[in-house]
Amino acid sequence: MFNGGYLGKILRVNLKSRKTSTEIIDENVYHKLLGGRGLAAKYYYEEIGADVKPFDAENKIFLFAGPLTGLTLPAPTKYQLSTKAPETGHYLCSNSSGKMGIMLKKMGFDGLILEDKCDDWTYLYINDGKIEFRDASEYVGMTTDKTIEGLKEKVGSKHASVLTIGPAAENLVKISYVCVDYRAFGRGGAGAVFASKKVKAIVTEGTGAIPASDPAKLLEIRKKAFPILRETRPNHTKYGTSQYISAINELGCMPTRNFQTTYFEGGDKVDHLTLYNKYLKGNVACTACPVACGTMAKVYEGKYKGAEARTEFESIGLLGPNCGIDDFGAVVAANQLCDEIGIDTMSGGNIIALGMELYERGLITKEDTCGIELKFGSGDALIEGLKKIASREGIFDLFAEGSLGVLEKHPEWKSYVVHVKGMSPAAYDSRGFYGNGLTYGTSSRGACHNVGGWTIRDELQSGKYDRFALEGKGALVAEIQDNRAYVDSLGVCTVVRGSMEFSANPKGDTMKAATGYDFMPELIEIGARIYTLERLILNREGVTRKDDMLPDRFLKEEVPSGPIKGQRLTEEMYNRMLDDYYDVRGWDKDGVVKSETVDSFGLAGVVSL
Ligand code: SF4
Repeated sequence: MFNGGYLGKILRVNLKSRKTSTEIIDENVYHKLLGGRGLAAKYYYEEIGADVKPFDAENKIFLFAGPLTGLTLPAPTKYQLSTKAPETGHYLCSNSSGKMGIMLKKMGFDGLILEDKCDDWTYLYINDGKIEFRDASEYVGMTTDKTIEGLKEKVGSKHASVLTIGPAAENLVKISYVCVDYRAFGRGGAGAVFASKKVKAIVTEGTGAIPASDPAKLLEIRKKAFPILRETRPNHTKYGTSQYISAINELGCMPTRNFQTTYFEGGDKVDHLTLYNKYLKGNVACTACPVACGTMAKVYEGKYKGAEARTEFESIGLLGPNCGIDDFGAVVAANQLCDEIGIDTMSGGNIIALGMELYERGLITKEDTCGIELKFGSGDALIEGLKKIASREGIFDLFAEGSLGVLEKHPEWKSYVVHVKGMSPAAYDSRGFYGNGLTYGTSSRGACHNVGGWTIRDELQSGKYDRFALEGKGALVAEIQDNRAYVDSLGVCTVVRGSMEFSANPKGDTMKAATGYDFMPELIEIGARIYTLERLILNREGVTRKDDMLPDRFLKEEVPSGPIKGQRLTEEMYNRMLDDYYDVRGWDKDGVVKSETVDSFGLAGVVSL
């Protein structure tokens, strides 16, 4: 019996009939799947069939907080979304900050399920559990920032949480993101799912208390964690994740000009020191986070003067070096544009980089690009191209369909389209870290370093691995994925997890103080159970070994220049890692979860299989 952390209820909203209902979650489900990502996977598994398309009325949006979301802890700000992804056509799990998860819990709910579609553009106003369907027509076409401010004013509350989408999502751009209080469910195109349901925004306000088993102990944990975080994460506070730009570049792993090579000669113009010395406006923190890794950059002079954006490693890498751009001002302006019009910075940077390569190879011309000279290195071309994606003009209408849409129309461009399962990669080139390749290949949502597992630190610094070796990478990637799956289910940020002893060898104090139950030793097993459930979903949707393969650029081309010139990760090498990984996971040679693996995780008791 839990006596804190969980609320035990979800709110289900039918957007068409406007009927709402509450449902009780069985306590055993929490024991087996923890919350957040675990619950988002369970409900998706049970309610979204393999044949449902992302924009069908039958697709649903599942939003789930974790047991620690909203409690008196460092950064208790995370919650999870699942839906069928427009970008990949498959299961999407996505994690965000913002206050919505906290608000849901303050209203007495662990989760919110949206089903069917509204007839007209609508925003939901959920105030302490009371739901209003309000006309959103005045906000249609409005950028995310203006919608957030407008809706806060409309409901008369500065403290309300606002989830919204931008104009790109309204045009069903398949790489559009969901903005929540200026944070993001970034990847997979979930923004377009909201748009397909004609939901422009959700405003939530809750005022109730979130119960905790031992509030005094939680406070003690928080008091201890804050100085630990300040001491152990100084570079996160000073530089944010931009701190990795120069290191990854010097290691020869920076995606450059659509992953054609892995070292960017202008790296020192877009790195953490450039940000810190010339562009930093200040830090931004998620709720109750002492790290405040959000580095708000501002352009103070030059062509892009006045642009402001919260920059981070992936956005800089993919809007900058991967588009051949060494003008930090242009990167900030492009980042701001993406945030406001509602395009995922990572997929946005990657798809423009693809366009630049196609243009430079003469495969598309100015006629296709609405007159834009879409060349590597041009900040203006990047910015204009992103705008045209949002408005779906010229060739950019095709780019708005994401990697899979491009390939469907032009299979002959396969060598240039860098993706796994339709999702373009994060800002690491797998030829520089073999474990990262396995990460991209086996991530539950496509070429993602978060869900797939961030191996870089282990491959570089642990002393246990050679980044160019194959041995041990299967077990390493599975372990990191399982750790991330349980942390994503807790409701705290992965950056601060260590301060609460949620490591690879977690301790149970925080869970005990929150819920009354310590979840020891089963946390890691829960992570593996969630990952297995996600693979069952993917298998049901037709995903097997063939879909876990890396793009041609990684497997068929050697790195042509830079610090790792000549480096290769061949198909044969990658397949060896994949075999190893499937063995560790208990999946068969085709990447299908074995029935004995399903049994070993006891999934039958918690998910209607
Ligand atoms: S570490 Fe960064 S992303 Fe995580 S909660 Fe803090 S500010 Fe947000």
